[in-house]
Amino acid sequence: MRKRNVDLVCDIAELISLTESGGDRKELLKNVVTAVAKHMQADVCSIYIYDEEGRELTLRATQGLSDAAVGSVKLKLGEGITGRAVRELRPICVGTASKNPSYKFFPGIHEEEYEAFLAVPILRGLRRIGALVVQAKEMNCFTANDTKALRAIAAQLATMIENVQLLTEAREQAARAAVATAPKAKIHILRGRSASPGIGRGRAFTLSSGQSESCLLPDPGRPPHSLEEFKAAIEVTARQIDALQRQTSETLADVAVLIFSAHQLILEDDQFTGRIGRLIEQGEPALKAIAKVVDDYVEIFSASKMPLIREKVLDVKDLGNRLVRNLLGEESGAFDYRGQIIIAHELLPSDILKLSAENVEGFIVSSGVTSHNAIICRSLGIPMVAVARDLADGIVDGEELLMDAEQGVVYLDPDEEVYAKYRELEATWEALHNASDVKEKTLTRCGERVRIYANINLLSDLQPARQFKAEGVGLYRSEFPFIVRNDFPTEEEQFFIYRKLVDQMEGRPVTFRTLDIGGDKMLSYFSNVNEANPFLGMRAIRFSLRNRDIFSQQLRAFLRAGADSHSRIMFPLISSVDDFIAARDIVYECMDELDRDGIPFNRKTKLGVMMELPSAVEVADELAFEADFLSIGSNDLIQYMLAVDRTNEAVSNLYLAHHPAILRAIHRIVAAAETHGKDVSICGDLSADARMLPFLLGIGLRNFSIDIVNAPTVQRLVGAITLEDARSIAEQMLDMGRISEIEAFLVERNLAPAAGE
Ligand code: PEP
Ligand code: MG
Repeated sequence: MRKRNVDLVCDIAELISLTESGGDRKELLKNVVTAVAKHMQADVCSIYIYDEEGRELTLRATQGLSDAAVGSVKLKLGEGITGRAVRELRPICVGTASKNPSYKFFPGIHEEEYEAFLAVPILRGLRRIGALVVQAKEMNCFTANDTKALRAIAAQLATMIENVQLLTEAREQAARAAVATAPKAKIHILRGRSASPGIGRGRAFTLSSGQSESCLLPDPGRPPHSLEEFKAAIEVTARQIDALQRQTSETLADVAVLIFSAHQLILEDDQFTGRIGRLIEQGEPALKAIAKVVDDYVEIFSASKMPLIREKVLDVKDLGNRLVRNLLGEESGAFDYRGQIIIAHELLPSDILKLSAENVEGFIVSSGVTSHNAIICRSLGIPMVAVARDLADGIVDGEELLMDAEQGVVYLDPDEEVYAKYRELEATWEALHNASDVKEKTLTRCGERVRIYANINLLSDLQPARQFKAEGVGLYRSEFPFIVRNDFPTEEEQFFIYRKLVDQMEGRPVTFRTLDIGGDKMLSYFSNVNEANPFLGMRAIRFSLRNRDIFSQQLRAFLRAGADSHSRIMFPLISSVDDFIAARDIVYECMDELDRDGIPFNRKTKLGVMMELPSAVEVADELAFEADFLSIGSNDLIQYMLAVDRTNEAVSNLYLAHHPAILRAIHRIVAAAETHGKDVSICGDLSADARMLPFLLGIGLRNFSIDIVNAPTVQRLVGAITLEDARSIAEQMLDMGRISEIEAFLVERNLAPAAGE
């Protein structure tokens, strides 16, 4: 059959006018996709509708894909070929979808066999309404004429779809209110944002925090429990908590000291277990008594003005759960979160540590993710996805989940096909991250030596650091032992942790970074002014310089831990030479004190600057002159140079490592270090970015501090390039003044995915 696009456009116009005069609009969408698919000889035609608030597209009608996908397949703006067409406000036509880096694969909706892909945004002026998409098995089968025809149809659909959108939303709201237990679609996918990569499988378990609720309702079918049985349950619970504390102190010695102490204290508190006991004696069923007292505690704790107290809400709930389970004799020994994915509004780093010790499989959180929570989950190897609150609220406790935290997707009740696909993906990932593939030395193709260091967040990262043959520690983020405690760790406690790093790296250099708190993470035990712009406030070195005692204690612990080693200290968020000199003077004072006290320390400790601010770039030359080394903190450098919050998804498309200003800034830093014969390294996420490695090598960087599991990939990429090529790439990129030019260049050099093809 020959395509007659003019006829198609007229047919659609007629369909729409019929609907405008009273037909069923939802039906119309189905009729449109059927007509377009038939006429264009496409195997699939789909309509997605855009939600401005959530910045995502939802599949609303399809001819050719699984019906179960309607309403459940969602794409973020910019995601997949369709998301990109809508974000960029232009049609995208792709000949072979499976080879396109933007292509988004959703197991279970059966679209993998369709290669030709044409996505046209549906717009009202510049307002995004949705997308019209056709797909076909035959490669390259859509023409420029098809694009024109689809655009004409999209234009006609825009107004009507706006109405459909309103109508559908209203209907869905009504349906949700009326039937809480509507039959579930075969697949259901939630889209969110990845905070810590990995694949998690398990049953949903909601840990709501903040408000009181009866989470522990007694089962009326069971005989009442006696006071003796309750006392026995307390004993079992106390033993479990002790065991957990012991085990965590061994595996996470730096951050887990006394982490279960609140559990232990509450369990021994007469107002808690004593009161439950008294209620049981008065005839209250034991489970009800536990629920009542737990609820009371939750209410009191959540209403507290002190963050330290509010933080205990989850502890009380966890304790309540344990008491109930032990009373019911459900668990033989240790109740934990194995096989469960926690759904929570928000989590604290200490909650993450506790739940990790209790073997949780993953986290789905519905508030923003702080960079520290993301980092701690990455270190613990626990996947974490952030989703919108209403999506998280829709997850039913006990439901099977598969979370793909590489892409930020959660599958509800996935079928075997989805599981199988992910088993395959995991096998591929493991093959790419095999520690035994890493060689002792990293060399470019022309034989130039490059050094790969590890970023360490927790002491537990040291084992992979050794396994992946890190040449040392390029960045130790020292804040975690501070964040998870109830008070500042003492100098001795800090010394114990820092010395472990030095010992376990066995002679290889270790770079300690001084405390970097503030921004999106404050210490709950340290009252601070309420800051309107915490990222521009009392953060990092500013906090340290303002709180000299805390700073000196940390510096003394670093200096002492570094005795007889190649240790270095660097300062985060330095904004001027004066900042650096002020910090350095305090180091010298600490050295004098240690000398006076006859305490051994590393008097050759090198002192460096983290280059994270535009102001530091402007005085890079002077900083390189003063400091022993520079380390580029690209995560913050990009954030502050481009004024783009690194944790804000709404502006994540503007967070661009390849922005010409960033390339030039990094080049200036490296050149300044070279001029003064100083060491320079990079330790932000950019250091393992495959697209940017040739540029970084080309401008002279040789020291890369990375999440060490990426070492096999980085080593492979370095080994594939000569310095001559890298220099030529860097020179050309530095000459470009536009983001688009650089993007096109990266595509042309096969360093980045093509835009739209
Ligand atoms: C950076 O900003 O690039 C960096 C390494 O520090 P952090 O991610 O801890 O802020
Ligand atoms: Mg930083």
